[in-house]
Amino acid sequence: MAKISIIGLGQMGLPMCRNLLKAGHDVKAFDINPESLLNAANDGAVAAEGIAQAVVDAKFVITMLPIGRHVLEVYQNGVLDNFAPGALLIDCSTIDVNESREAHRLAAKAGALSLDAPVSGGTIGAEQATLTFMVGGSDEAFTMAEPILKDMGKKIVHCGEAGVGQAAKICNNMLAAISMIGAAEAFTLGERLGVSNQVLFDVMSTSSASCWSVNNYCPVPGPVPAAPSNNGFQPGFSTALMTKDLGLAQSAALSSNASTPLGAEATHLYRLFMSQGTGELDFSGIIEFIRGGKEKRDP
Ligand code: NAD
Repeated sequence: MAKISIIGLGQMGLPMCRNLLKAGHDVKAFDINPESLLNAANDGAVAAEGIAQAVVDAKFVITMLPIGRHVLEVYQNGVLDNFAPGALLIDCSTIDVNESREAHRLAAKAGALSLDAPVSGGTIGAEQATLTFMVGGSDEAFTMAEPILKDMGKKIVHCGEAGVGQAAKICNNMLAAISMIGAAEAFTLGERLGVSNQVLFDVMSTSSASCWSVNNYCPVPGPVPAAPSNNGFQPGFSTALMTKDLGLAQSAALSSNASTPLGAEATHLYRLFMSQGTGELDFSGIIEFIRGGKEKRDP
């Protein structure tokens, strides 16, 4: 069993910490929020007084923080001056690809191995240890991290070099957002034309429109019982997080000169949707924005 430090004990970090403890690891935790730290301590982690104390004897340092600025701050104000020789830094946050590459660069300069390893699967995946990890970094670092990541996830994919895990994550989420908007438009049009949601689902889920947003996460209630549309759009994956990831995709598109017109449009639509106070709703709730209300409307 390994000595692991985990920094950032929010909605994702805390359940990931629990799964590491469940697997028998020796976990030291830190969060600037005392309540989160107490939760981790109640679960059996050692509550560190600061970042330096959290990382000083850890073989693995996991960060699960909101945005890239936080990761760079934590690296520069505690991790990089205090990590143990031979430690591996694993950043599981979803952050800007260039900031992720900067975190790798700083780690390499300080002599630490590092990986970016953002996740998909949401809070349920974090609780049930069924996350997918999209990992960027060297083969050596990946091989070292894989057994630890398996204690928190089901599918561990080595996507490529430093930053490529983040790149894969934002490409995936950009397409999920675009296809969700497409599904919402198709169901809205179907409603206007008198096709029942179930009939349209039966057709699209087995035809060329078949995709995850229709088949597994259908934005209208009924056809897919586990979808958030059956539960008042409780997330799931929140609109706020999807909007954040779309912003990251747009920033990466700009810096790499990639043309992503539908990604740009999806970003604007999600920002408009979120401006109505819907950040906490599941991202599939955008159908209500596109349709112009909860129920089928008269033309
Ligand atoms: P969260 O806001 O619930 O948790 C972040 C935690 O980091 C908080 O407890 C906060 O106090 C702590 N923190 C912030 N700055 C810190 C610092 N300097 N030092 C120590 N702790 C600090 O966020 P979350 O939902 O757990 O998400 C974490 C990351 O995972 C984000 O990048 C998010 O985009 C990504 N993600 C989230 C989900 C999800 O469903 N929540 C799914 C996939 C990916």
